[in-house]
Amino acid sequence: MAAVIDGKAVAQAVREELREKAAVLKEAKGIAPGLAVILVGDDPASQVYVRGKRKACDEAGFLSREYRLPAETPEAEVLRIIGELNADPVIHGILVQMPVPPQIRPEAVVEAIDPRKDVDGLHPFNAGRLFSGDPFHKACTPSGVIELLDRYRIPIEGKEAVIVGRSNLVGKPLSLMLLSRHATVTVCHTRTRDLGAVTRRAEILVAAAGKAEMVRGDMVREGAVVIDVGINRLGGGKLVGDVAFNEAETRASWITPVPGGVGPMTIAMLLANTWRAAERAAG
Ligand code: NDP
Repeated sequence: MAAVIDGKAVAQAVREELREKAAVLKEAKGIAPGLAVILVGDDPASQVYVRGKRKACDEAGFLSREYRLPAETPEAEVLRIIGELNADPVIHGILVQMPVPPQIRPEAVVEAIDPRKDVDGLHPFNAGRLFSGDPFHKACTPSGVIELLDRYRIPIEGKEAVIVGRSNLVGKPLSLMLLSRHATVTVCHTRTRDLGAVTRRAEILVAAAGKAEMVRGDMVREGAVVIDVGINRLGGGKLVGDVAFNEAETRASWITPVPGGVGPMTIAMLLANTWRAAERAAG
């Protein structure tokens, strides 16, 4: 039976460490790490995420600023606000909550953010630095996965790692992070033939497909570490991951639950990036 990786507790510990580091920065240089979040429209899930980010900032002693814009806001207005924030010395991190309404091109807003303030790690500069093995800001969810493995002292080097999902947000950056930690990495997607045969090779199996409980127990290698990034809301509101937890836990050595696994790590890593940006800005 697998031991459960408690992402909530790890995220809390990371946030507590950041609160202490922020206090040190404030004491030494009079600077509080500042995060600006832009939310366009009224997507309910996005509202929840933005609220969570604000609360985390407040608890860690960070400055947080929110821009809640109507759904019909033109792209030019969002770009104007980003321009202002790029020039604002009290703001060290800028995040545009995705998804944005159709009149706004996500790549245009991401590319407008000063890469030094791109604490989501999605700007092509940051994606490129990760690719070249010299990362600057790393994407939050995949770095949360690495942090969980590290905090539980789960070795990565030399391991056979399989990721289900190849998005720019999760699967692809995570593949580069695991590769830089010397795992042997396979990335699966919808055209992968015989997915189970590939996932059964994994000593570290990461599910990031956005398909409720698609990873069944028989797709998990005996003793594997199973990391479930998926967040799927079933009818009735229940949240489940991409892994059938009850089946997988009988074969895995370690497993993350949903909720309470990778999810809480994303905000913790966002704060970590913002703190780092503030520290760099302070020299
Ligand atoms: P995307 O929809 O952008 O990407 C999903 C990926 O999974 C694609 O590469 C797709 O393949 C692949 N995929 C989908 N179905 C299958 C299948 N049946 N077999 C094999 N591969 C499949 O999703 P994201 O990467 O943005 O998110 C993935 C999940 O993680 C979602 O549930 C999301 O809610 C969650 N998430 C959680 C976060 C957190 O904080 N914990 C943060 C971000 C995301 P193809 O490329 O061929 O289409």
